[in-house]
Amino acid sequence: MLATARRAGLPLAVRGGGHSIAGHGTVDDGLVLDLGELRGVVVDEENQLVRVEPGATLADVDRATEPYGLAVPLGVISQTGVAGLALGGGVGWLTRSDGLTADNLEAADVVTATGEHLHASAAENPALFWGLRGGGGNFGVVSSFTFRARKLPAPVLGGNLIYRPQNWSTALNAFARWTQDLPEEMNPIVSILRLPPEFEVGDDPVLVIGFSWVSPDHDAGTALVDRLRAEAPPDLEEVGPVVWTGWQSAMDALFPKGSRGYWKNASFSRLDEEVIQALLGFASEVTWYGTGIDIHHMAGAFGRVPEEATAFPNRSSRYWLNIYGFWRDPAEDARLTAFARRAHAAMEPFAETGQYVNFLGAEHGPVTAETARLAYGPDKHQRLVELKNRYDPDNLFRLNHNIVPVPA
Ligand SMILES: Cc1cc2nc3c(=O)[nH]c(=O)nc-3n(C[C@H](O)[C@H](O)[C@H](O)COP(=O)(O)OP(=O)(O)OC[C@H]3O[C@@H](n4cnc5c(N)ncnc54)[C@H](O)[C@@H]3O)c2cc1C
Repeated sequence: MLATARRAGLPLAVRGGGHSIAGHGTVDDGLVLDLGELRGVVVDEENQLVRVEPGATLADVDRATEPYGLAVPLGVISQTGVAGLALGGGVGWLTRSDGLTADNLEAADVVTATGEHLHASAAENPALFWGLRGGGGNFGVVSSFTFRARKLPAPVLGGNLIYRPQNWSTALNAFARWTQDLPEEMNPIVSILRLPPEFEVGDDPVLVIGFSWVSPDHDAGTALVDRLRAEAPPDLEEVGPVVWTGWQSAMDALFPKGSRGYWKNASFSRLDEEVIQALLGFASEVTWYGTGIDIHHMAGAFGRVPEEATAFPNRSSRYWLNIYGFWRDPAEDARLTAFARRAHAAMEPFAETGQYVNFLGAEHGPVTAETARLAYGPDKHQRLVELKNRYDPDNLFRLNHNIVPVPA
């Protein structure tokens, strides 16, 4: 199919789990290389390695590893494809404790634009291996991923502290203090959203501090949560032992298949009163089956990976903000896209270098060409361009946040 696309000059979409919000998993008037049927996962328990085919979802991997007490760090919605997630980065409930999905990639098999089969790892084709960890689908089709898995206590301690709008400022200030010295076994994510009726929290938007504590010492985790509770007593909460596959799919209902979507993101390190006020300025506008906000607390194992070790854009920011919209009615496109843009603009004064490509929606017009440069920052982008020149000089793989090759 790669040769056909090249010869016919047809645009080629490479599709794994089909969850690209920018729509890169499909194309009109072109060819779609749909890998969605290739969902095999093989666990090597002894070496804690997991081999994953390119159409596997996060649920496929979690289901395969759980019986061995193992987990690969993945994302938080279980129907997402591993392929796109890992190639862009992969943030979720194990990011602080274990790094990105991409940080746990040991090796990948890649088919290049010319049909060459390459193995990429730290030892073999290391430049390509660098680019696969954050550079998206720019360099070839990955036919197999091998990830390192971690031992996971069973059960894990997980939970949600839930706050009504009048307590958001208190909660965010307490969260800011709490995250100054958290042990990295604690993986928290703040979400501001409206929940559908089955969650039984009412119609108002809520701020949720969700967390996974991945040490077997549940008492220590509970003591940490008590510290946060003492500073910001939640209006509602649900905290306790969780089965990993259940936890990993607990939020699936919030993102129904067939939705329209758009999102923007920013990394930042300050979470002081000025930043909290900026966040609260747009947070109350979130709507159910419309818009929401997530703040991932990073640092920990994620932050220890040297900046130059992978193509992922920025390891130093303490927080990563994702402003998103999911909706069904095309008549809502303009309003909900505008919300994400406006909220992102309000946070821009505090943003640091880099954007996470997997949390970027489709852009049109002149912004498109700039997207990847802005996402990676000029230095990393330059290195990615050199890699692109080497592995895909004709830009066969261009339906992605594209690294545009520059002919020598
Ligand atoms: C509901 C929802 C929840 C999400 N939650 C998270 C989250 O918790 N954490 C997180 O980090 N991200 C999350 N994401 C973002 C997700 O990581 C990206 O959208 C990712 O690209 C999805 O991968 P996919 O394989 O499903 O997508 P696809 O649409 O199939 O592919 C996306 C991109 O990857 C490329 N690609 C896919 N397969 C291959 C392959 N085998 N070889 C080379 N290139 C390939 C495609 O060309 C395309 O550019 C979420 C997305 C959605 C829609």
